[in-house]
Amino acid sequence: MTANLLEFDLEGLAAFCAGLGEKRFRAVQLFRWIHQRGASDFGQMTDLAKSLRDKLAGAAHVEALPVISQHISADGTIKWLFDVGNGDAVETVYIPESDRGTLCVSSQAGCAVGCRFCSTGHQGFSRNLKTWEIVAQLWFAEHFLRRHLGREERIVSNVVMMGMGEPLQNYTALVPALKTMLDDHGYGLSRRRVTVSTSGVVPMIERLALDCPVALAVSLHAPNDALRNDLVPLNRKYPLAELLAACKGYLAHAPRDFITFEYCMLDGVNDTPEHAQQLIDLVAQHGVRCKFNLIPFNPFPQSGLVRSQAPAVAAFAQRLNDAGIVTTVRKTRGDDIDAACGQLAGEVKDRTGVGSRIAAQRRVVLHPRRQSTPEAAP
Ligand code: SAH
Ligand code: SF4
Repeated sequence: MTANLLEFDLEGLAAFCAGLGEKRFRAVQLFRWIHQRGASDFGQMTDLAKSLRDKLAGAAHVEALPVISQHISADGTIKWLFDVGNGDAVETVYIPESDRGTLCVSSQAGCAVGCRFCSTGHQGFSRNLKTWEIVAQLWFAEHFLRRHLGREERIVSNVVMMGMGEPLQNYTALVPALKTMLDDHGYGLSRRRVTVSTSGVVPMIERLALDCPVALAVSLHAPNDALRNDLVPLNRKYPLAELLAACKGYLAHAPRDFITFEYCMLDGVNDTPEHAQQLIDLVAQHGVRCKFNLIPFNPFPQSGLVRSQAPAVAAFAQRLNDAGIVTTVRKTRGDDIDAACGQLAGEVKDRTGVGSRIAAQRRVVLHPRRQSTPEAAP
């Protein structure tokens, strides 16, 4: 089995090339061909010496994940379901807006945290994605969309690690993937435009600050430990006081001077004026500079939870804003294709009764041909 070069950040690729007896600038050229131009065929890389192309052909390949399906929402959001083998699949969502293109990327097949309001959490954990499987989502989306839309310039301007999985429970694979996104020879995304969203893996927040500081979003969802223990079980391990201290520490290294707190609005559970006041007190007590992003709960079967009423969401936002905490309400995108926050279920074996899901998705697939490279895509 040859190496999939999507696995390497630039340093990793330089080491791989050194193993082939090649200098670092060759690795830079190769990295640019792959990530900036979407090339997967070494024969195409005409400014590399023929001898290097021959060596690469024997030792390496560049391959994305097979696409199981692609759905396009009425609002332009696109969701891809990628096959990661063994009956597992992960989802990636592209969200176009007038001033940016955001790609929501998955880090795991399933998730072990098991938040009550999250469809990924309900299906359980299957496995960590490898670095190449994280990078392949961006590589495919960027180059597929460029070809599809006939554009030369960059399409994906922002990446949010808000797809399936808890990125900080897959730290070793995550960091080289982030580095590839940030690298000027790769996707050249600014640190402010790459966001890691976490349910609060405190030791890894501390490590990320040192290894690869990017924008941080923390899924808070509750203003006190009792409620958060129930909604986000990881809170029993890393309670709010530790989490907020880690957030404060992160700010010393972060590319932005605030943490984004995500808060999923659940009717009658965490959306009352008392909850808003507790939140205001909590962030004041810990002195964390933050913004809030309220996410109206996106329902899925078997959650047993209900989305907050729009007036309750508006009143909650108003209270936080009045207290000087900038608060926005996240627009729901792509819910007609089950691509909204918390609706990504992919397919994790069949342990949760979502077994017919891939079959159901296939019935509405737009481009049923399996593809593994952007070139091959329709
Ligand atoms: N595991 C990471 C990132 C993936 S979830 C995390 O938890 O932060 C991305 C965001 O969607 C998180 O804020 C998560 O809490 C939120 N979310 C999950 N399920 C949701 C649902 N059903 N409705 C609305 N938001 C949801
Ligand atoms: Fe995992 Fe995030 Fe879903 Fe919680 S909200 S189960 S951490 S993916």
